[in-house]
Amino acid sequence: MDTEPLYARDSHLTEFDATVVKAGPKFVVLDRTAFYPDSGGQPSDVGVLRHAGGVARVSKVVKRGLAIYHYLDADIAVGTAVHGAIDWPTRSWNMRRHSAEHLITGLIEALGEPPKVYSDLERLEYQPSNLTAEQVEGVRRRFDEIVDEDAAVRVYYEDRAKIDASGDPRKIAFLQKIPRGVDRLRIVDIGPYASTFCFGTHVEATGEIGHLAELRLEEAKKGRKIVHFRLAA
Ligand SMILES: [Zn+2]
Repeated sequence: MDTEPLYARDSHLTEFDATVVKAGPKFVVLDRTAFYPDSGGQPSDVGVLRHAGGVARVSKVVKRGLAIYHYLDADIAVGTAVHGAIDWPTRSWNMRRHSAEHLITGLIEALGEPPKVYSDLERLEYQPSNLTAEQVEGVRRRFDEIVDEDAAVRVYYEDRAKIDASGDPRKIAFLQKIPRGVDRLRIVDIGPYASTFCFGTHVEATGEIGHLAELRLEEAKKGRKIVHFRLAA
């Protein structure tokens, strides 16, 4: 009952044909899908599945093992051929913010900061941290320059054993957070500015992210520093 994750190969694919391989009350598993499941801090896609018997709205998508579950407002039987369409404005907005999160992470890492302790589509948190408001302002300017540069985003796979043997302490530290069963890592590079393991969806070049409307440092309790970010809509 594995689902082929079409979104992993093409993050700009919005429509696809598939077959229902498992069904239950208000959910289906498909043999292939362009719907991104809720994971890695990136929310799931929404959209529709059209079929000969009607249209079902997809409100949430979840990955369990290698099967991807689509939660619907109607039932669809096993064996049904469906035509899926993801809601592109929602995906694009999530993907742009998620890619921005990677780029800001890379720019702050280049300042010599320890790894972030938390991040989502609106904030990055550091503890301990020596980040200053001046540095964050520098990151904001650099971010917008890199957006104007339209730097390419490269996504590729590498064997875990090869990374383990590389002796790169940064990558090996990252590797510790990835479950043991994962043998092939997906690496996302944003130009030379950011590089990380990630199974999410990303823009193809930085121009697609767009400029920042805001990048702001909050000094929280116990030395925690929170970098808030917001893209220009
Ligand atoms: Zn990512």
